[in-house]
Amino acid sequence: MTLLEVKDLHVHYRTLKGVVRAVEGVTFELGRGEALGIGGESGCGKSTLAFALMKLIPPPGRIVKGKVILDGKDLTGLPEDVLRKEVRWKEVSMVFQGAMNALCPVFTIGDQLAGPLMYHWGMSRREALERAAEALEMVGLHSDMLRRYPHELSGGQKQRVVIAMAILLNPKLIIADEPTTALDVIVQAQIMNLFKKLKKELSSSLVFITHDLSLIADIADKVAIMYGGKLVEFGPAEEVFIEPKHPYTHLLLSSIPRIDRRTKLTWIPGTPPDLRNPPPGCRFWPRCPHAMDICKKEEPPMVELGRGHRVLCHLYA
Ligand code: SF4
Repeated sequence: MTLLEVKDLHVHYRTLKGVVRAVEGVTFELGRGEALGIGGESGCGKSTLAFALMKLIPPPGRIVKGKVILDGKDLTGLPEDVLRKEVRWKEVSMVFQGAMNALCPVFTIGDQLAGPLMYHWGMSRREALERAAEALEMVGLHSDMLRRYPHELSGGQKQRVVIAMAILLNPKLIIADEPTTALDVIVQAQIMNLFKKLKKELSSSLVFITHDLSLIADIADKVAIMYGGKLVEFGPAEEVFIEPKHPYTHLLLSSIPRIDRRTKLTWIPGTPPDLRNPPPGCRFWPRCPHAMDICKKEEPPMVELGRGHRVLCHLYA
């Protein structure tokens, strides 16, 4: 059953140097309990898309077109006070990039976890702290943490606290924006195992955003690849990883080292497009090894390949 539908979403930033078209025409859907991995290079619009799903785009950004429908409710049409009281944290929560920035340095972990419970569920402070201790236990932390301040915690512990915050109110959807960035590989593996455990134990759907496709392969049921603000490939994880269709997905996967194959590592020549002035036609043509004349003039169509797998490319039109 579908939980999240994103329809033709456009997010623009109006700057003094022009309009940055950060997200353009993004459409996808996600079922209940499913995990979606969104990948692509830095600046491709992944984080902007994540913030748009919570309608938290910072100015001068704005959703200029499209819909985000969560459990039948169009979030793009809701006023800010309704979003704050009824939607954020209760229905959809977010694990922000950089746990240190997401925690307030002058409040204890207990205060920071109890706040949303008292505000949204009307709990007393005592009840809220009990529920906060349960959430900490779910992410592998002792309830002693409730009395500590963020600076007393390691990077991995802070990231676990932020994840506990995201699951506190049993939201239907959890968005994790680069949740393992800035963590060493051991802690990164522990956090990935924690996400996998929570995915099994909770019924929430997960949107996992990262530039590291190997992390997506580890957790996702569906994969979305973004390039230059556009969704260029979307489909079941197994299909996209085993038989990628878009030339960009192909190149991204070929640039990941594999210990089971002695294949030559490749890289993607060139740089991502300037989103104030993207190239005409397909945004990937200046870097695409299969570019044809039509690619330089006409925007490619989204081609449905079956079983929910689709690709934005003239090669399949
Ligand atoms: Fe390459 Fe053309 Fe496909 Fe774009 S539309 S990815 S340039 S083949």
